[in-house]
Amino acid sequence: MKTIWATWRKNYIQRAYDSTSECLFCKIASEKCDKENFVLYRGFHNYVIMNLFPYTSGHLLIVPYRHTCDYRDLEESERCEMSLLEQKSITWIDEAFHPGGFNIGMNIGSVAGAGIDSHIHRHIVPRWKGDSNFMPVVGEARVMSISIEDAYDALLKIINQEAS
Ligand SMILES: [Zn+2]
Repeated sequence: MKTIWATWRKNYIQRAYDSTSECLFCKIASEKCDKENFVLYRGFHNYVIMNLFPYTSGHLLIVPYRHTCDYRDLEESERCEMSLLEQKSITWIDEAFHPGGFNIGMNIGSVAGAGIDSHIHRHIVPRWKGDSNFMPVVGEARVMSISIEDAYDALLKIINQEAS
């Protein structure tokens, strides 16, 4: 598969792959630089972030603050909010990018395609007619029609409008 990182921040990708550093999702959760980290929204139990390895433009992740590799560990409140943030994410993406559909799901365990398998996260992948067939292949990338920065700005604008 051809990968084109037109506007990517190379050091960011490097950081994600740095297995000696602490968990990337925990690190981002604790940091106070949401714009730099592409964090879109913070809930009580989960946050929403642009996927660093997007399958399509606007590919989001919903990440619980709590570090766990086991979905069954999540409390009801954490799961419920994750579900709510799924709905919100669909609304935001729909308004910003008008995709034809979505794939939503989790890759649990590295054999299932999880890029960061120690900390569960849910994918929200917008789909367009003509993009290729979906496989849970996070970590591979397609040509993005817009940069992650532009997608972030477009989504954040919608989220801020919603909040005001
Ligand atoms: Zn973690």
